[in-house]
Amino acid sequence: MSPKKKTAKTSIRLVKGMKDILPTEQHIWDFVRSRVESVARDYGFMRIDTPIVEFTQLFKKATGEETDIVSKEMYSFVDQSGDRLSLRPEGTPGVIRAYIEHGMLNQPQPVKMFYIGPQFRHDKPQAGRYRQFWQFGFEAVGDADPIVDAQIIAMNYNILRDLGLDIEVQINSIGDKHCRPKYFKALTQYYKNKKKDLCVDCTKRLLKNPLRLLDCKVKGCQELAEEAPQMVDYLCEDCNKHFTTVLEYLDEAEVKYNLNPKIVRGLDYYTRTTWEIVESNQDGKLQALGGGGRYDELVKLLGGRETPAIGFAMGMERIINKIKEKEVVLPEVWRPDVYLAQLGIEARRKSLKLFMDLRQGGLTVSEDFSKNGLKDQLELANKKNARYVLILGQKELVDGTILIRDMESGVQETVDHKKVVKEVHKRLASKMNDKSLKIKTTKKV
Ligand code: AMP
Repeated sequence: MSPKKKTAKTSIRLVKGMKDILPTEQHIWDFVRSRVESVARDYGFMRIDTPIVEFTQLFKKATGEETDIVSKEMYSFVDQSGDRLSLRPEGTPGVIRAYIEHGMLNQPQPVKMFYIGPQFRHDKPQAGRYRQFWQFGFEAVGDADPIVDAQIIAMNYNILRDLGLDIEVQINSIGDKHCRPKYFKALTQYYKNKKKDLCVDCTKRLLKNPLRLLDCKVKGCQELAEEAPQMVDYLCEDCNKHFTTVLEYLDEAEVKYNLNPKIVRGLDYYTRTTWEIVESNQDGKLQALGGGGRYDELVKLLGGRETPAIGFAMGMERIINKIKEKEVVLPEVWRPDVYLAQLGIEARRKSLKLFMDLRQGGLTVSEDFSKNGLKDQLELANKKNARYVLILGQKELVDGTILIRDMESGVQETVDHKKVVKEVHKRLASKMNDKSLKIKTTKKV
């Protein structure tokens, strides 16, 4: 497809569908990242970072040439060496490529990995949908046991609950290569006389992948999908046993779920268990925060030996929007132990070194050295929620002292300049002892 010529003058601005994550938002992103990392540690998942750019062929093969993501939305280009490359539209293909390429098949299985990073899809931008967006994802490669499905779904559920969101798992099984052909036949038969009522995309899907008709977003297609045959009625014995065992485990783990025969996921590689995690919107509409599934054929498809696997990906912008919308109470953000205020040219000169000494002494510090007045600096220290302010003025310089001001009580004491690090630590320790009986302060988004 040749790119459309832009007639308007290009100006320096944000590319359509992209988003800046501003400093004021970073504490929410940090909060989500740290919860993801902490859950990953608990469940034994190790971080993997794969490149943003991969050979286009990887996504064509793994995600599927007929999927919207690959056929319509990929950012693809030919580089200076003539290689056909794409910005990754999703994380799983790169992780599986790395699993095969680095011989992880020879490690104890399952190999459990997680990632956090941007993905790129040239989709129609709208609320909650961007062209660059972030996902975190988890993959457990090398184990077919239904307990792995249940554990990864429970983990997915717990991450979002730990983030303060009220969510529910919608789950389905889409069978495997043994039982799916029979179901496809039944689906095709069902849609045979209804082609005229399908959208253009679905008439194509009917030939290539009839499963995709079930999750089409067009109203008419959705209505038809309501009455369509359901995969669960066509599962072979093994797939059926696998699915019922997963559900039993989820019941045991008290994970809230609903059976939803339309959760087929948009990608070609899924087998057996598929799920999405949804949270209701303010208008009562369910919005998917992410989803996942088994993909027992993918490793082999990409050149490895037959290896079962399962994983999920969550959209970070959507999760962060939910956290903001629900005003989830976040843990206390970073706050400095001390704020260094200086008065006069000589004190400012000495402050640079003192600031380094405070940091090396294990204190968290803050400053605004370009400010001169004490009032301004105290206001800023207050804004930054500093526990103590150190005040270095002309008099203190001459005396070899420094003033410590407790920002909670307002009490000020003069201490020996050389002992300042020790003095601050002493006060922090006694504050901690005092506070250990009180409830930790929290801050709203
Ligand atoms: P998918 O990889 O399509 O299954 O998407 C998993 C999750 O990623 C979705 O439920 C969304 O939360 C998020 N996501 C997918 N596409 C976008 C997008 N264009 N912009 C923002 N988030 C997205």
